[in-house]
Amino acid sequence: MEKTYIFGHKSPDTDTITSSLVMCELEKQLGNENAVACKLGNINKETEYVLNYLKINEPELIESLDDESNVILVDHNSPSESIDNLEKLNIKKIVDHHKIAIETSYPLFYRAEPVGCTQTILFKLFNENNIEINEKIATLMLSAIISDTLLLKSPTTTQDDKDAVAKLAEISGVDYEKYGLEMLKAGTDLSGFSIDEILSLDAKQIDFKNVKSIVNQVNTASISDVLEMKDELEKGIEKIIEEEDLDLFMLLITDIVNSNSQVIVLGKEADLVEKAYGVELEDNTALLEGVVSRKKQVVPIMTKNA
Ligand code: MG
Ligand code: MG
Ligand code: MG
Repeated sequence: MEKTYIFGHKSPDTDTITSSLVMCELEKQLGNENAVACKLGNINKETEYVLNYLKINEPELIESLDDESNVILVDHNSPSESIDNLEKLNIKKIVDHHKIAIETSYPLFYRAEPVGCTQTILFKLFNENNIEINEKIATLMLSAIISDTLLLKSPTTTQDDKDAVAKLAEISGVDYEKYGLEMLKAGTDLSGFSIDEILSLDAKQIDFKNVKSIVNQVNTASISDVLEMKDELEKGIEKIIEEEDLDLFMLLITDIVNSNSQVIVLGKEADLVEKAYGVELEDNTALLEGVVSRKKQVVPIMTKNA
């Protein structure tokens, strides 16, 4: 039987990886025995923490798929964040919480909701289909919601996310605040990563109107620790700007404890950040107070000012 490959975005985060695993379980429960959970890149340390905690294997790494393969997309829909030959694949379903950036020439199951995390939608799909959520699935869902909403503190957080977390904490028996902080902290450990890896860990290519940009985000419990690498990071960023012919690169160093981001900005459109946030870049950097969400606090504001 033909397989159905389920995957999230490139530079995978915890929502992307756990959603491919949970969506795969949902498909199997719905009778699609040939569903396979996949990933498009290496997992980060936060996700590693979650999978180790649950003793679950990583999804299968795929680099390419034959044309016409059946796929399900989770936690993304933008072709720029997906597998390279996406337009030649047969997309069966999409479950996502990002703005819709894809167009297909055929109908498909598409579930998009403006909630904080894909897993909040999967939580609903399990309930709607009367499929039991076991402890492992509950912990996977819980981990992703904590990750995407930074422990329900990000402005992307909705009541649906909070309700899901309450229910999932109950099912899993996990003290979500304690577990969540440990998990987020595990994700801030940058040791063992090269500068190039740090700059691609959670990088998204986003064009603000005509301003070709990459916005990368790293979580930390100490902004000053990350700034110790500022010179090397800037060298790496300059190289990427050159290679990708970018107008702008923003590196958000997000303080998960105090909910602020220090931003390092390079590129010929760097002024746009000053204009958008009313800040002055000093030595290519500024503190963006209260900014933690790329989706809600960067994309719309930068687009409006571009
Ligand atoms: Mg994601
Ligand atoms: Mg997500
Ligand atoms: Mg994220």
